[in-house]
Amino acid sequence: MIYSNHNLIRVNAFSLYVWTQRYDLHSHSTNSDGEHSVESVAKLMRANDVEYWSLTDHDTISGWESAEKYAKSVGINFIPGVEITCERGLPPDADELDRQSRERASKSWHLLAYFPTLKHFDEPALRFAQWLTPLQDNRIPRMKEMIDKLADLGMPIDYEVVAEKAEGSIGRPHLAQAMVEYGYVESKLEAFERWIGDGLPAHVAQPKPSIAEAVEMVSKCGGVTSLAHPLYYGVPSTRLAEFCKEIGVDAIEAFHRSHSDEYRYELWQACRNIGLQISCGSDFHGQSYAQLPGRMPTPIDDLCV
Ligand SMILES: [Zn+2]
Ligand SMILES: [Zn+2]
Repeated sequence: MIYSNHNLIRVNAFSLYVWTQRYDLHSHSTNSDGEHSVESVAKLMRANDVEYWSLTDHDTISGWESAEKYAKSVGINFIPGVEITCERGLPPDADELDRQSRERASKSWHLLAYFPTLKHFDEPALRFAQWLTPLQDNRIPRMKEMIDKLADLGMPIDYEVVAEKAEGSIGRPHLAQAMVEYGYVESKLEAFERWIGDGLPAHVAQPKPSIAEAVEMVSKCGGVTSLAHPLYYGVPSTRLAEFCKEIGVDAIEAFHRSHSDEYRYELWQACRNIGLQISCGSDFHGQSYAQLPGRMPTPIDDLCV
């Protein structure tokens, strides 16, 4: 292995791949359920040697304008992005869940969309934002419903306490934090694993587009898509790649922070075999989750942006 600047170059008998750690294409700010402002996320990206950064808040592009500004001020490149909450694309496979030591698959699939050439004020961006609005608008009623369910389960929480934690759109991590503060759970993770995770007693589903609908809308607005964190879906890699190819998804987030090296490699090969690209992302939500952005070695030639 030869290290040059941030690029890692690996040579094997068949190919030469140029690897990079300069990209982080998946992160969240206070515009959705991240802990840090857009400005802080931009600075943390810079501090971790990221040069190409995408802010991918859930179902909103409201952070794009400030992300563009702060990326410029810290000297990195900003790629407008969003993480769209979609209906499940394929049912989970029991053997695959077993292989990944996961108890259940998430009920939503997340689709990352990137618009490398779009500015926040361009017409397609406005059209796209409009399409996202109903997905956003439902967040408050849904939160209130989850709070009602928790009250029925003997864990009353004041909506205002949750709302004041959310600077942008309100989400489950804000509720999890409130549950910790009320002393109902020890940690945010416990809140998700026992009460508010998909399909659990205090969870309320939100209206979602299908993956195909989201792909169509993104491509109409000039963007590309990558299926986020496949580890959560419990679908074998080859089957998942076939599904993405059939439905027009451009890439799979093979290089997600939660994936082992072996799983990253397996997904990457499944993508290469079928002619899909890949993306890489830390899925950074904040430092209290013991997460850091960047430092994700990725083969640059197969990146979707
Ligand atoms: Zn996600
Ligand atoms: Zn995410």
